[in-house]
Amino acid sequence: MSSSSTELEQLQQQFSDYLKRKKYRNTQERYRVLDHIHALDRHFSADELYLEMNNRGDRISRATVYSTLDLLTKCNILVKHRFQGESAHYELSTRMPNHDHLMCVECGRIVEFRSDEIAAIRDRVASEFGYIPMTHSLQIFARCPDPLTCEHNRSEVA
Ligand SMILES: [Zn+2]
Ligand SMILES: [Zn+2]
Repeated sequence: MSSSSTELEQLQQQFSDYLKRKKYRNTQERYRVLDHIHALDRHFSADELYLEMNNRGDRISRATVYSTLDLLTKCNILVKHRFQGESAHYELSTRMPNHDHLMCVECGRIVEFRSDEIAAIRDRVASEFGYIPMTHSLQIFARCPDPLTCEHNRSEVA
């Protein structure tokens, strides 16, 4: 039972603890990046985030966005995905645990899903080799029926 503002506060606390521990400067800009990511609640690339923030009138440099994403990944607030043929995508690690990704090879749209069957295969394969299953990562590459009407806009990949 936590409201989204409490979740944001927890993330801010986690981030400030990390910055303090590593002796990084505790700048306002870094927290604006975190706030924006929290409000976004989806996958994004560094350039997408940079453009979105600036389109909203939040003047922030590309270098700050990139370095903040790097720090947020290092302190495990963000998970970094490398989808084939795409620039790295990020998402909050608190989002939907253990989900997999279906990616459109035409338009780059990413769909998230959960599958008990895939989790069962993970568990079975690990056990067959005598390992204790923990987590997994799966990317399915597919084609959407009609790339022209696909909602994902990849014009930012320039
Ligand atoms: Zn598509
Ligand atoms: Zn995801």
